[in-house]
Amino acid sequence: MNRLFQPLQLILLVVALLRPASAECNIVKRGLSGDLLLIGTVLTNQGALQDSSVFVQSGRITHVGDICGLGARGGDASVLNCTGSVISPGFINTHEHISFSTVSPFPDIGERVSHLFSGTTSIIGGGMVLGLARNLDFPEGLEDGLDNRLVIYDTFPLKDGLGVMRNGDCDYGPSSIDRDTAIGYHRYISHIGEGIDVEAANEFTCLSNVAFDTTPALGGGGLSTDIIGPNLALVQALGLTPRDFDVVAARGAKIVWSPRSNMYLYGQTLNVSYLLEAGITVALGTDWLPSGSATMGREAACAASVANEVFGMKLPPKELWKMATVNAAIVAGFEDQLGSLEVGKLADIVVFEGRSQEDGEHDIGTADPFGQAIFAPQEKIELVLRGGKPLLASSTIRDLTSGTCELIAFGNSNKIVCIADELGSSFKELEASLQGVYPVVLPDLPPDEPTCKPKLYS
Ligand SMILES: [Zn+2]
Repeated sequence: MNRLFQPLQLILLVVALLRPASAECNIVKRGLSGDLLLIGTVLTNQGALQDSSVFVQSGRITHVGDICGLGARGGDASVLNCTGSVISPGFINTHEHISFSTVSPFPDIGERVSHLFSGTTSIIGGGMVLGLARNLDFPEGLEDGLDNRLVIYDTFPLKDGLGVMRNGDCDYGPSSIDRDTAIGYHRYISHIGEGIDVEAANEFTCLSNVAFDTTPALGGGGLSTDIIGPNLALVQALGLTPRDFDVVAARGAKIVWSPRSNMYLYGQTLNVSYLLEAGITVALGTDWLPSGSATMGREAACAASVANEVFGMKLPPKELWKMATVNAAIVAGFEDQLGSLEVGKLADIVVFEGRSQEDGEHDIGTADPFGQAIFAPQEKIELVLRGGKPLLASSTIRDLTSGTCELIAFGNSNKIVCIADELGSSFKELEASLQGVYPVVLPDLPPDEPTCKPKLYS
């Protein structure tokens, strides 16, 4: 046993003796090295590891698992005891439209902040702001040394944004995506088959079946193509048939699922049971605010509810958590850097407070450690690290934070928010500029949330 290791062993003994009645994190040692040891229930693809640990050095994860495996490296680290809380990779939201504020005057930066404060550390959303969540579809928004890749997010791959609807041919115009372009991208995350009409189904046919339309259109374009491959993630995909999903599965393409927006706009959503059985990688995305969820947690709640009510499937909290972490990183093409707590990955980590007695019985899986993470309201978030840097922390662990930080009330609990240095304006200034149109700090149930109920609109 290394001598340097002994103080840490002592600390762990103290941690074990002081197992808290409430499930809040506390700092048991303030080290000088800048390294951080988190102790608690660690969520991994293999399961929830109780009384386990994650060690962060220079913004990256260098150890996960039993604390004894840490050896001497723990020497002068700060130690955060989160026994009773769950330690998760930050969520990755694979479907937003942050700069699409056309329907209602949502000041989009409020939306971005509230995603970060609800545990989302990366977003694919067609818009960006430096300093908050990573923007995986913008090279300049990757943050903390994440290497650039060609991740293209496309709302109108057929360039039918002006309302071109086709049935029986592919005459969408000369600027539609073509195969060579699509397969050249590291990831092509593309809205395909949005809607429940024949025109939505036609989009998939035009992008998956070369033989469907071989007659060029006057003015260019007009040919069907085939872009379905492992680098493609289909967003929406509501117009696809089971046979289409078999093609998606066979080609290794992925699906981004946004059940709330589907239910609100079309009264139905993807048969997630079929998708999972087909072996398709499914990630969750909130879609935009006018029809989607304000947070990944609310999207997961909707997903669990429609899976049960519409498809008779009990979606386990772990499966939903995977859709927001591991699977989402695969969809985004950053699975080697993000989406799980593994050695070498960036320390995008969120700690969620465990279930307390006041919580009572919740309808969906909050006794499950994965449920504690994926269904957590903002006020249950104790710590958000992006690349090892604390951007939000419970006031009880404020000593972990540095730089310009502000004390903000999240419902009944106080948080320390440290985004001012990155944003260039304080949180309070930001909130004031939003004039209450969009609440940055959301209650458990966000106001005016679009419905997730299975109801057919005519
Ligand atoms: Zn969308």
